[in-house]
Amino acid sequence: MSFLQRCLLRSWIPVTTIARTRCPSYSTAVHGSLERTLVAVKPDGVQRRLIGDIIKRFEQRGFKLVGMKLLQASEGVLSEHYHDLRRKPFYPALIRYMVSGPVVAMVWEGHNVVRSSRLMVGETDSAQAKPGTIRGDFSVHISRNVVHASDSAEVAEREISLWFHSAELISWETSDHRDLYQM
Ligand code: UDP
Ligand code: MG
Repeated sequence: MSFLQRCLLRSWIPVTTIARTRCPSYSTAVHGSLERTLVAVKPDGVQRRLIGDIIKRFEQRGFKLVGMKLLQASEGVLSEHYHDLRRKPFYPALIRYMVSGPVVAMVWEGHNVVRSSRLMVGETDSAQAKPGTIRGDFSVHISRNVVHASDSAEVAEREISLWFHSAELISWETSDHRDLYQM
């Protein structure tokens, strides 16, 4: 087993952190593009029993689930999560929506997962989201767009640490890794 694989298996430190600090071969290996991102099923998605459908899409794509929990989000976490939107007219309604019921927060890992998950989720405005995307298949209005996904690697890192303690993230090896990635 390579040093990198040992890093990925044993450490709870986010992959990008390990890679930057401990694994010099990271940038040249396939793991050079391994990322983690935060995906959340919003309260409308939970109410509408869409959790399974949403998880299924990330599983079948080949991404790896490394953290997941059902929780009632606090206004404190949400105000940090949506800090950049705090001056938008829809912000109060957005917070009311996000505290209206439980959410399922997840961390998914894989090659280019930040960009790919945004493409899988679709446009913010459900009316513009293409069929085949989660929002395009399961929602009709921007205010109830069923799912969240981080929009950049930097944002993903910040959001993951906001929603998860590091010990809640599991580094594990999938048995189909060699079928999904060139080694
Ligand atoms: N939102 C809304 N009205 C708007 C724009 C955004 O209710 O006009 C909500 C919507 O739930 C969206 C969230 O605010 O998902 C965060 O907005 P952002 O622009 O970050 O979109 P996202 O990254 O979720 O696609
Ligand atoms: Mg966003």
